[in-house]
Amino acid sequence: MDDIAGKVALVTGASRGIGRAIALALARAGADLAINYRSREAEAAAVATQIRGLGRRCIPVRADVSKSAEVARLVETVQAQLGAIEILVNNAGIARPQPLEEITESDWDELLAVNLTSCFLLTQAVLPGMRARRWGRIINLSSVAAQVGGVVGPHYAASKAGLLGLTHSYAALLAKEGITANAIAPALILTEMVTSNLKARPDLIPVGRFGDPEEVAEVALALARNGYITGQTINLNGGWVMS
Ligand code: NAP
Repeated sequence: MDDIAGKVALVTGASRGIGRAIALALARAGADLAINYRSREAEAAAVATQIRGLGRRCIPVRADVSKSAEVARLVETVQAQLGAIEILVNNAGIARPQPLEEITESDWDELLAVNLTSCFLLTQAVLPGMRARRWGRIINLSSVAAQVGGVVGPHYAASKAGLLGLTHSYAALLAKEGITANAIAPALILTEMVTSNLKARPDLIPVGRFGDPEEVAEVALALARNGYITGQTINLNGGWVMS
């Protein structure tokens, strides 16, 4: 297992939910953190304060990761203040549960931009630093929706399935350079994304409960430490899909 103490990690969408839990887990393991968020400044600041309380460096950075200019500014800010990004967690995402017949092209474009294009933009932006160091970890938050459709809609499921192809390509192309790329595919983790969706019910899950963000964070931490897992999708779904 690699020691991640002192490494610089960027977690997108880390003001709350799964991203917050992953950022805290990486900080407890000794990483310095950039906390990206889109609008909830106070919540991001609270996470940053908590991480600094653990003795790690931490900066919150507002950026809409679906916009290339904001991604460029985000990465430049992190690199100027903390150093080259060695661990990238593409976690920021949105779900727009809506009746199938009401999904428009602009809904599709928004979901794809936030959930998928952002991960391409961020990965491309951090890769030069990772390649120069011959060490990097790319962790993408996919979803059980990529496998079974899920409880949001086809736009969400397609964005999360696209992330699996993105992960496989980066993993294959970068395997010889000390850089791993993996996906985590959770189902129904207890965050606002789930509590705001009436179709998300614990009885859909064989283990009979929603997952905890901490349970996702443990897996993300293991992927950050492990240099021999690459190109994988780690299923974390209470038994909804078995592999
Ligand atoms: P959440 O509680 O709704 O939190 C979403 C986070 O993403 C927030 O920090 C939010 O920032 C940020 N965000 C949203 N749009 C953004 C944008 N354009 N630019 C930058 N940040 C943005 O979601 P979650 O449940 O923790 O989900 C985290 C990831 O796991 C998502 O990719 C989601 O699709 C995936 N996932 C979740 C579940 C689940 O059951 N919860 C299952 C499978 C996969 P603000 O706070 O500033 O708005």
